[in-house]
Amino acid sequence: MRRMSIQIDPITGAPRLVAPGRAARHEAEPAACPFCAGNEAATPHETGRRSVGDDWTARSFPNLYPLTDPHEVLVPTPRHVTSWRDLTPEELASGISLLLERRAALEAEGRYVHAFVNDGTAAGASLAHAHAQLVVVDHEYGARLTRLLHGAGCALCTLTSSHEAGLEIERLGGLVVLAHPSPRLAGGLIITPARHEAEPAVEGARSLAHAVSAALRATDPLTDVNLWLAADGTDTHWYLEVQPRSANLAGVELALGIHVCAADPAATAAEGRARLAAHAS
Ligand SMILES: [Zn+2]
Ligand SMILES: [Zn+2]
Repeated sequence: MRRMSIQIDPITGAPRLVAPGRAARHEAEPAACPFCAGNEAATPHETGRRSVGDDWTARSFPNLYPLTDPHEVLVPTPRHVTSWRDLTPEELASGISLLLERRAALEAEGRYVHAFVNDGTAAGASLAHAHAQLVVVDHEYGARLTRLLHGAGCALCTLTSSHEAGLEIERLGGLVVLAHPSPRLAGGLIITPARHEAEPAVEGARSLAHAVSAALRATDPLTDVNLWLAADGTDTHWYLEVQPRSANLAGVELALGIHVCAADPAATAAEGRARLAAHAS
């Protein structure tokens, strides 16, 4: 069952994920939310779950309209919550724990498992109930996210050990939340371990959940947001990127693949620290 594939644009040579079957998902708008508790039969077979007693707290299953093979969906709460911003700390921790577990389970030689969240319609979500997804692409595509994070010259080791740029927002456990030094769009943040570490461990899910919660609180609460994990399975420094959809992609971005960032990262960090301080008080 390979209904989708990466094709190369014959004009520019750039990769495209082509999945015509996904057009059907807009016609099949369900009457009841398939991700809510009680509607489990509306989703394909479960691939993983977290539960308390008999009740699930997070579950994963194949996407009905896959972009890649495999392509999984992860639902971090049985409640009809429409944003990851509104998950409880427990839901965030169990959702992230299952996400890391599924990511590890889908990994294989030569593949890159891309784990990401589209939070809100501007971020690409087509179902309202909060969810995450895992798609699988050739390793070379994922490795682009970590190209400058090898060994002694690792850019994230440098960034987390130097406070000069004023990008740091918060430190929690071994993790640092900081303004991305060069985000795709204004307001982008990253979460990364202070020490060079190749993979986020499932056992570290609770710390990561705390950091994700802080990062989301540090962003503009009215903005839809994409989150994705960058960890390529080699010795590179992992990070999680949090990108508020603060602008539309326009002619420069679409044609040249060059993003236009209309904010100073140091100002993003200052705003983020102020938002966290306001939450705390
Ligand atoms: Zn729902
Ligand atoms: Zn590093």
